[in-house]
Amino acid sequence: MSKRSKSRKTKTNLDAERLTPSGLPADFLVRLETIVDDTWRESVLRSFEAAKKTSFRVNTLFTEPGEVLTELQELGVVPQALAWCANAFWVEPEARDLLTHSTAATEGRIYIQGLSSILATLILDPQPGEWNLDLAAAPGGKSSHMVCRMKNQGKLSVVEPIRKRMYRLADNLKRMGSEISKTYLMDGRKAGQKVPDRFDRVMLDAPCSSEARMRLSDPDSCKYWSLRKIREQSRKQTGLIASAFQALQPGGTMLYCTCSFAPEENEAVVNALLSQSGERAELLEIEMPFSHWQPGLQSFADQNFEPAITHCRRILPNEHFDAFFMAKIRKAF
Ligand code: SAM
Repeated sequence: MSKRSKSRKTKTNLDAERLTPSGLPADFLVRLETIVDDTWRESVLRSFEAAKKTSFRVNTLFTEPGEVLTELQELGVVPQALAWCANAFWVEPEARDLLTHSTAATEGRIYIQGLSSILATLILDPQPGEWNLDLAAAPGGKSSHMVCRMKNQGKLSVVEPIRKRMYRLADNLKRMGSEISKTYLMDGRKAGQKVPDRFDRVMLDAPCSSEARMRLSDPDSCKYWSLRKIREQSRKQTGLIASAFQALQPGGTMLYCTCSFAPEENEAVVNALLSQSGERAELLEIEMPFSHWQPGLQSFADQNFEPAITHCRRILPNEHFDAFFMAKIRKAF
């Protein structure tokens, strides 16, 4: 065995030792006990096993839901409506392939996207005519939804530092009919200094440890979880949130979100912004259209957070939703 494959094997074995018989990392499960309330714990744990329903959003720049539904039904796909979003639907996991390969998807009339992500753009609520920013944008699910909500009027700046991902982002935006987005290859932490007080709204769907993406059916998704990764991401997110806030114009609003459960990547990051910005950053209460969520935590490990952190929302996962954290922040005049 070569030296390289030997060292890879050792790493895999070490990682596997940290996994519980359920397949999830042991430390992750211990932490989950203090993050998720007792009443939700069982359903959250079950959600790592269940095959998720597939959801999608109709691109209203090109078509209306009625037309797309007829097109999909002819393929044998039966989309189900949602009470809280007229343009979003879900299908059973077995219909995912049909949906992904449909011409509606390849021609940009629909975008396959998780329900938590769809909700994030609705909560930021971008409007036609505004100049908005998506600070961590690839592959562009939220950017293209923002363009849709803005009815292709105004401007959307989109930022992504990884070249390959930036090309994919630009392609997706083109396919989805965006005429108002401009793509920037850069580190989002620099945007605030470059264009302070510029944007009406900022989306920051931050790079994160992606704990919500762990699936027991995909052991690789659980193998690389580590506290070190959480700390690394937390440092980057603290820089990104400060930059996003700086780029926001007075009176503007931003949404900070992650698909991680970790308070170090969520409450602690928002708390750091509140501490640095004083009264200029106001945390807004988010109204939720369903009941499977918790308010932001008041403390975690040895850290206490500002009382307003309870305005944040942690979506608890189920067969429809991935776990997600959101904080909506307004910059005072
Ligand atoms: N909002 C996207 C969507 O809905 O399709 C998903 C964004 S994903 C969670 C986070 C993105 O942030 C990744 O594409 C990652 O490459 C990018 N990223 C990583 N480091 C960054 C940085 N320093 N500045 C801006 N973006 C960064």
